[in-house]
Amino acid sequence: MLPREDAPMLFVNAQVFDGSGRPLFPGEVLVRGDRIAAVAKGSERLSRDDASIIDCAGATLMPGLVEAHAHLSWPSSVGRIFDSFTLPPEEHMLVTARNARVTLDAGFTSAYSAGAFGVRFEIALRDEIDGGWLPGPRLRASSLERLPEGALGLPADPNAAHPRGPQGMRDYVKAMARERIDSIKFLLSSDEAFKPGGSQELTYTEEEVAAIGEQARESGVWLACHAQAAQAVKLAAKHGFRILYHCSYADAEALDMLEARRDELFVAPAVGLLWSRIHEAEAFGITREVAEQMGALSGLDRMCTLYPEMKKRGIRILPGGDYGFPYNPIGRNARDLELFVNLFGFTSTEALVAATKTGGELMGRDRIGMVKSGSLADILVVNGDPTRDVRVLQDQARLTMIMKGGAFHKRTSIAREGTAP
Ligand SMILES: [Zn+2]
Repeated sequence: MLPREDAPMLFVNAQVFDGSGRPLFPGEVLVRGDRIAAVAKGSERLSRDDASIIDCAGATLMPGLVEAHAHLSWPSSVGRIFDSFTLPPEEHMLVTARNARVTLDAGFTSAYSAGAFGVRFEIALRDEIDGGWLPGPRLRASSLERLPEGALGLPADPNAAHPRGPQGMRDYVKAMARERIDSIKFLLSSDEAFKPGGSQELTYTEEEVAAIGEQARESGVWLACHAQAAQAVKLAAKHGFRILYHCSYADAEALDMLEARRDELFVAPAVGLLWSRIHEAEAFGITREVAEQMGALSGLDRMCTLYPEMKKRGIRILPGGDYGFPYNPIGRNARDLELFVNLFGFTSTEALVAATKTGGELMGRDRIGMVKSGSLADILVVNGDPTRDVRVLQDQARLTMIMKGGAFHKRTSIAREGTAP
C-alpha cells in the first residue's frame, strides 16, 4: 500500500455507484483519513480546501468488492498454478500471503474466509494486513474446515482431531476463540466431490451442532458451514450459523427456515468452482464425466432453480466462488458476478449490490461496502460501467485505482491530477 496521505482527497468527475442499487450518478467523493467524509451528487461541489484532487475523468467510482467464500491458503492463483493443495508450511504461508495481494489486485478489498489450511495462517495474515505490513483485503480469518475426524484436506494429524459429543464441540469452539479466530468453519454435510452420495451424509449430530451454536455465541465467534443436504442447511439455520455455503439440496422447509432468519444469515453458492469444474478443468483431468461424478453438473442445475427462489424470498445471496483450485485460481474472483447474472437472474446492478453492500453486511463490525459518508474508504475506480456489464471488473487494466481504508493500493493515472474543474 502507498502511505495514506495526510491531506483529504477529493475524487471529482466520477460516476458514482454507491452500493445501494441506485443508478450511477455524477458526483464527488471526499476521503479523510480512512473514511469517506462526504459524497456530493450532480452539480453539488465539495470543499476544495487543502484537498488533493483526483480526477476520475468520467470513470465509475464504487465500493471495493467483498469475496464471501475466500480460501487464501488454497495455493493456485492466476498465472501460478500448483497441482497440490499442501505445501511445506513455510512455502504455504508465503504463498497464502501472496494470494492476499492477488485478491486485492483483483479489486476485492474484503474477504470473508471459508477455511484455511493452518489453524493460525489467517490469524497471522489478518494481523499483518491490519497492521499495514502486508498488502491484502480486510480479512475475516477462519479456522480449518472441520469434519469430525479431522480437518479437510490435511494429512491425518492426531492433534487436529477434536473429541466428539457436545462437550468436545464446546472445547473446540473455545480453543478457536482463544486463538482470536473470526469464523469457525464446519462441514455439516459431506459432498459428492468427496465421495458418491456424500452430499446427503450428515457429519455431526444435532446435539453437537446445538452445542457449537451455543458456545460460538458465548465466545463471540462466527460460524460458517459447508451444507449440501437439506437437513444440514436446517441445522445451520436453526443453530445460528452466519453463512451457509452451497445449500444445493435445500428443500422447501429449509428455504422457509432460511427466509425466517434472512436478517441474520447469508448464503453463498460458491458457483465459480462448479462452473470451472464443468467447463475449464479438462486440462486438469476433470472431464465432463468426472465433473458429473463430483456432482458438478447436477449441483449447478439445482442451484439455477434454487438461488432465483432464494432471491425471491429476500435471502441474502453473496458472490464468492471457492477460488484457489488449479482450475479456478485466485484472482478470477470477479467472474462470480458474471455467473450471478447469467445463471441466477441477477441484474448487473443486483450482482454489484450483493458484492458490495451485502458483502459489507457479512463482514460486519464496521461500515463496509458503500460509498457513503462515514463508511470505510474502500474504493475502486473502474474504467467502464459495471452496472451495464459486470464483466468489466474482470479486466484488471480497467481497475485504475484501488483504495483500502483511505490508502491507495493501486493508482494509475487515467486522468490528469491538479486543479479541480
Ligand atoms: Zn470452499
